[in-house]
Amino acid sequence: MAISFYTDFDPAYGEVTQLAPLVRRVVAKNGNPFTWKGTGVYLIGRGDVAVIDPGPTMDEHLDAIEAAIGPDEQINHIVITHTHTDHTAGVAKLVARTGARTYGFGPHGPVPEKDPLESISFDEYFTPEEKAKIDKEWAEMPDELKREGPDTDFRPDVVVAHGEFIVGDGWSLEGVHTPGHTSNHLCFGLSDDGDGQKVLFTGDHVMGWATSVISPPDGDLFDYLNSLDLLLERDDDRYWPTHGTAITDPKPFVRSFIEHRRGREQQIIAGLSGQAATIKDLVPGMYAEVDKRLWRAAANSVYSHLLALHREGRALPLDGNPSLSATWRLA
Ligand SMILES: [Zn+2]
Repeated sequence: MAISFYTDFDPAYGEVTQLAPLVRRVVAKNGNPFTWKGTGVYLIGRGDVAVIDPGPTMDEHLDAIEAAIGPDEQINHIVITHTHTDHTAGVAKLVARTGARTYGFGPHGPVPEKDPLESISFDEYFTPEEKAKIDKEWAEMPDELKREGPDTDFRPDVVVAHGEFIVGDGWSLEGVHTPGHTSNHLCFGLSDDGDGQKVLFTGDHVMGWATSVISPPDGDLFDYLNSLDLLLERDDDRYWPTHGTAITDPKPFVRSFIEHRRGREQQIIAGLSGQAATIKDLVPGMYAEVDKRLWRAAANSVYSHLLALHREGRALPLDGNPSLSATWRLA
């Protein structure tokens, strides 16, 4: 179940890094427990440039994106992996600055009016000092950085379906629909990065530093696992995720993700053996090694597993209504 994460990443915020002849990156300084060290924005091509996921709205970050290209270059395409604010919040401002067209799978899926996560809390696991520190950091954090919130405003100018290409001067990006983290998640394939490497920009589908958060109802574990299988059918040399550094052993890495989820499912089944339990009961044991600030998000991932088990007739909520706060038992 162990995943060999890529934890060696020390981005120079606000500076452009040339990763390959056709690939540059600027990292935004919006690090938090969800974005790790910040949103990595990729610039594809020379002259005719595409930006993959502009990231947050901070002006100094958008300045850095514009400063990353030369005077004879133009950002003509803004390409979106998925509609979470740490990826898309800066789209409108970057469009205003550049006049670029936007590309994506489509708008965000339906979002419940009340955040289901409000029904669950792990506050009692924090010391008063930890709680005070977290509350202070939270109060000082700009709203858009607070969580990986859905962006329900984004509408792409150009809809990109699975297998369709966005074509620029000297490059093309292949849309690879990879629902799971969100229903509209796309990865983008570049068949040659200028160094002869076939690369895939994996957004939040496969990241080097952590597994994806799956938040029902838009996030779906069944889709996510199918979307991992889909990557195993490809022959990419490396992945560039939005958060973190290059993944240079794509297939073993993806296989370890699939194994990891199977392991989580086994933990849930073990946790429900001989007793009914809530998600709140299960999370602290299952995620003991993970930052406690991520436990509420982890609750969503456990919920996505339970929904999958429920669909397969293997687990049931005692009251008959699947929810984050239900008590669950094995069928
Ligand atoms: Zn995301």
